[in-house]
Amino acid sequence: MVSSIDSSVGTERNVVTELPGPKSRALHERRKAVVSAGLTQGFPIYIERAEGAILVDIDGNRILDLSSGIAVTSIGHAVPELIDAVSDQVAAFTHTCFMVTPYESYVEVCEELASLTPGSHAKTSALFNSGAEAIENAVKVARLATGREAIIVFDHAYHGRTNLTMALTAKNMPYKDRFGPFAPEIYRVPMSYPFLDGLSGAEAAALAIKLIETQVGAHNVAALLIEPIQGEGGFIVPADGFLPALSEWTTKNGVVFIADEIQSGFCRTGDWFAVDHEDVVPDIVTTAKGLAGGMPLAGVTGRAELMNAVHEGGLGGTYGGNPVACAAALATIKTLRDRNLVARAREIGEILFANLRSLQQDVAIIGDVRGRGAMVAMEFVNPGTKEPNAAAAKAIVTYCNQQGVLAISCGTYGNVVRLLPPLVISDEQLADGLSVLAAAVRSAS
Ligand SMILES: *Cc1c(COP(=O)(O)O)cnc(C)c1O
Repeated sequence: MVSSIDSSVGTERNVVTELPGPKSRALHERRKAVVSAGLTQGFPIYIERAEGAILVDIDGNRILDLSSGIAVTSIGHAVPELIDAVSDQVAAFTHTCFMVTPYESYVEVCEELASLTPGSHAKTSALFNSGAEAIENAVKVARLATGREAIIVFDHAYHGRTNLTMALTAKNMPYKDRFGPFAPEIYRVPMSYPFLDGLSGAEAAALAIKLIETQVGAHNVAALLIEPIQGEGGFIVPADGFLPALSEWTTKNGVVFIADEIQSGFCRTGDWFAVDHEDVVPDIVTTAKGLAGGMPLAGVTGRAELMNAVHEGGLGGTYGGNPVACAAALATIKTLRDRNLVARAREIGEILFANLRSLQQDVAIIGDVRGRGAMVAMEFVNPGTKEPNAAAAKAIVTYCNQQGVLAISCGTYGNVVRLLPPLVISDEQLADGLSVLAAAVRSAS
């Protein structure tokens, strides 16, 4: 039992040096000689260990984590069940390649995915290493199963950084700029964005569908790919009715509806999946991030007749569904269930909304507070307008980080601050983080 050897990182934020501290600054200099400058630099405090919602850096600062490594460590850091499951699996065996000689945990993860994802139809899955790889494979399956080529994606979408997923992603800088040429047969239509478009879900869906039918032709469309709540694009929650209307249109037209639940899935929004909120049943669901508590694992889960249309050997990869990652996923799913973190995500959402909405009354730069469950963001604007205020978002993130509260930004215009706390965060920790965030917002406004 490795998990019982040591613990007690502490539960309170405690900043003991300026941030980043001297050791982190020195390490950051060392890094520059050998780590590509093409990687986002984020907040360069170098982490030594973590527990629950607290990260400890190499200077001994205790940082409150409101980002969960971008919605990955939803069950918190150093969860005993996960440590034990991963340690036991490392000791048993670390790799065989599932395509060469299989093992039970891969099958068990696929059983969980089949039962947890929406819909009672027969489903099969294939496992991969990253979200982008899952998206690539969902597109492969949809094209093969339908015999069609066109893929519909949305404004503000983020689906990854590989060649195909760059093409599926909307934002040019920094994701796509000068990295082309991009994959063909990808068509982008407007996303429902209630704060900016003022349309109902039905109106926004009708607009998107009209563009698809006139510019692409329904019979050419293999798949419609959508994040039910957009992540990197700015935590954009479509108006009620948008997703059901698109889902109905895909069913009527033989188009595969792919829900990209990589950021929104696994209890984050207060449901197991964000589409559950409107009872939408996708044909394929892609998962990653929160699925395996920090180990790299991604899933493509879909109707058995779609997923099984692929010839043997058509899907796979050396490491996909690695046994250590599968053990981590099973421990993560058990933890989400045992601790009823789906309910906790809703409670966190209520606390976040109450606080941020009241803050919005006091300052003129918060244009919108939106999200669901423990996936909540503020969109910053120039006072009295809906013009993006990226400078405010940047200043707020910097202020929070320097106080030892890890928040991150997002959005096509860089003007959104998003909160993705671990679902095990305590009420006290959340209140602490919110008080720093409120001070940051007031100081920026
Ligand atoms: C992060 C993300 C991806 C890409 O996942 P990677 O593991 O980074 O490749 C795809 N879609 C969504 C919605 C994401 O948030």
